[in-house]
Amino acid sequence: MGMFDSVMVPCPSCDTVIEFQSKAGDCFLRTFTLDTAPAVILADLASDPPETCPHCQTSVRVEMHQRTVGKAVPGLLTSDSAHLRNLLARIHRDGGHYLEEHGMDKAVADADLIIARLHAKNDE
Ligand SMILES: [Zn+2]
Repeated sequence: MGMFDSVMVPCPSCDTVIEFQSKAGDCFLRTFTLDTAPAVILADLASDPPETCPHCQTSVRVEMHQRTVGKAVPGLLTSDSAHLRNLLARIHRDGGHYLEEHGMDKAVADADLIIARLHAKNDE
């Protein structure tokens, strides 16, 4: 069994603490939170499949850029879609809640409108 570091994150649904394990970086069996984890470890976790909350069974993933966790969207597990979800969360200024609530088609369409408005404003 190899060494790993742990990042303890709260479930976005029920606040149960969930352990994510990463073999990125030095791996000295350290324990981090989202605020203290090195970027290399967060990047590793963000590209991993989600963990399942043992309490409420919510599928939870780490979102590296915001140092937050969000509920995973079923069927979107490739690293490309992880980047897309992070970008949408950034545009909608949430942890992926907008995407989760409204679905990919509406989240992308509305993100397009948000960016178009920002560009129009910047051009004034
Ligand atoms: Zn939970």
